[in-house]
Amino acid sequence: MNRKLRMGMVGGGPGAFIGPVHKMAAELDGKIALVAGAFSQSADRSKAAGAGFGIDADRAYASYDEMFAAESRRADGIDFVVIATPNHLHLPVTKAALAAGIAVMSDKPATATYDEVLELQLVVAAGGLPYGLTHTYAGYSLVREARALCAAGALGAIRKVAVEYLQGWLSQPLEATGQKQAAWRSDPVLNGPGGCIGDIGTHAFHLVEYVTGLKVTSINAALRTVVPGRKLDDDCNALLRLEGGASGTLMASQIAAGEGNGLRLRVYGEKGSLAWRQEDPNRLSVKWLDGPEEIRHAAGGYLSESARAVTRLPGGHPEGYIEAFAVLYREFAEALSGWRKGEVNALPATLPGIEAGVRGMRFIERAIESSKTESWVEF
Ligand code: NAD
Repeated sequence: MNRKLRMGMVGGGPGAFIGPVHKMAAELDGKIALVAGAFSQSADRSKAAGAGFGIDADRAYASYDEMFAAESRRADGIDFVVIATPNHLHLPVTKAALAAGIAVMSDKPATATYDEVLELQLVVAAGGLPYGLTHTYAGYSLVREARALCAAGALGAIRKVAVEYLQGWLSQPLEATGQKQAAWRSDPVLNGPGGCIGDIGTHAFHLVEYVTGLKVTSINAALRTVVPGRKLDDDCNALLRLEGGASGTLMASQIAAGEGNGLRLRVYGEKGSLAWRQEDPNRLSVKWLDGPEEIRHAAGGYLSESARAVTRLPGGHPEGYIEAFAVLYREFAEALSGWRKGEVNALPATLPGIEAGVRGMRFIERAIESSKTESWVEF
């Protein structure tokens, strides 16, 4: 198929955060074009967003149901939809899309609740269509390098993991001002039961399992609500046990005043360790038990094949958040094109899908249970 894949979007209306990022990322490699959308629950705002994105006026719909019905009738209808709405819509929109024969790229978390993701898992399996999940950090070249190092056993058996995801933007009761992103994230009905643990804890959790290749087996978490009047947790500390006897810590906070998007992972093995920071993503520190520290740079010719495969520019030309998102889109586009040609529906192992979605929702549910019972809980 030598045409671009046609993408629809749900969410991403005027003032939205991640919808426009999805458009930029999806279109970066020239394999995908945004052609339709139900960008808002308001028909007028959907039209306004569509005009801003430069799509045909008749393809900016008043609802996602209307979009799926109309696009399914068109010869040039959308091939897949990206879901960039608050969490409570992820399940119903995915179900409606798959029922209309439209593949799905969803933002995380996969659903609002654990029960919902179990339903989603069945729907995705029955639908047979590709389903991707945008755990953005999986798209960074040096995260792929870290993953390759662990997979090759370069660090020896993994003994300890420390992951932290610190933000400061919810240090004040921003939701009380009506700020859009804070408002739905602080509402259990629209967000689901896990506040900070669901919004950014899931990214940290995913990064641990993605890089180490080890599953978390149990958790002891303490979730707190620091800002008075807030309905969901905004600060979390957790101890982890992983397969193979490794242990870990996971800290996630949205009241860490002054922090921006402070995601940091450190992994310690018998022979060495690695450290990566999202705010300085083009450098990976690798330390050895008996040797000097190495700083590996994105696009270095010495990197693993998997890391080099996802860089676009020569070394020293920084790639970041949008490019990492675009890596996931490139892999999704290849999987979807293959599926359309009749190949088996299989996402590459590097691209998060429904399994990562189920793990993430299990993590939220387990962390809440552990915090409530003040005890270790098994996964
Ligand atoms: P946002 O509030 O900025 O945008 C949500 C959009 O959804 C708004 O435009 C809203 O009008 C629209 N919407 C709501 N109901 C709708 C409906 N029925 N039909 C169509 N559109 C509707 O939120 P956001 O910060 O962009 O987050 C959206 C999703 O993306 C969340 O699930 C969030 O967890 C996820 N997210 C992921 C990342 C990442 O790094 N992968 C980053 C930020 C957000």
